[in-house]
Amino acid sequence: MRIFRSFNQLLSHNTIDTFILYKRVCEQYNNADIMNLVKDLIPSSVLKLYYTEQDLKPILHWFKYDFMRWMPKLLRCEKCHYEMDVQVVTGNSWRLRATEIYLCDKCGFEQVFPRYGEIRKIAVTRLGRCSEWSLLFGAILSSISIKTRIVHDFLDHCWNESSINDSWLHVDSTLEFPISLNHPHYYEQNWGKKFRYVLAFSHDSLEDVTMIYSEQQDNVLKRRNHKNAVGEFKKIYSKI
Ligand SMILES: [Zn+2]
Repeated sequence: MRIFRSFNQLLSHNTIDTFILYKRVCEQYNNADIMNLVKDLIPSSVLKLYYTEQDLKPILHWFKYDFMRWMPKLLRCEKCHYEMDVQVVTGNSWRLRATEIYLCDKCGFEQVFPRYGEIRKIAVTRLGRCSEWSLLFGAILSSISIKTRIVHDFLDHCWNESSINDSWLHVDSTLEFPISLNHPHYYEQNWGKKFRYVLAFSHDSLEDVTMIYSEQQDNVLKRRNHKNAVGEFKKIYSKI
């Protein structure tokens, strides 16, 4: 793709794939059929009128404890509990990003974990790590008219932000309440994250939200080598 060539030093192919994934996923948040499908998954008991951030607590609890399952990176064989070997096969598009094939050396048991970008498929498997969780939770909140975007830190984690009372709120469905809501400094304080770019993705925009998640803003700026990287990211995002 010609437009990306001049940005080679700024962006790896992985970064462009990440941009394409989030754009295609957020476009699904505008698809009425997909929104109806995921809305039907939500039990009425967890639905509320969403006036404050606390109103998100029941749906977060349901999603984490009753609906989704976490896929560990180290998997033990369900038959003999032996640690399984993993082979990662690269996918061919944002729809199927990769397939992880786990094999037990001892008994030959095999388990396959496809990493989907399609909301319908994640909603069926209900399995994943932070990316599947945030892609699907973003869809679930969007389906009940809570405007939600996906946030990516380029350090192996992603989460959501939802618009409540016209301001964007940190929402991480993988974490325990109350850390899952409005605790933007949690990652830096507890996981020692050294952010360079934290970007928030919607279907039509990419925003630099790094400084919301960092209390060490001078260090963030020192880690950045390009003056107008965000401007370039935005240009690329508008073209994919
Ligand atoms: Zn086994």
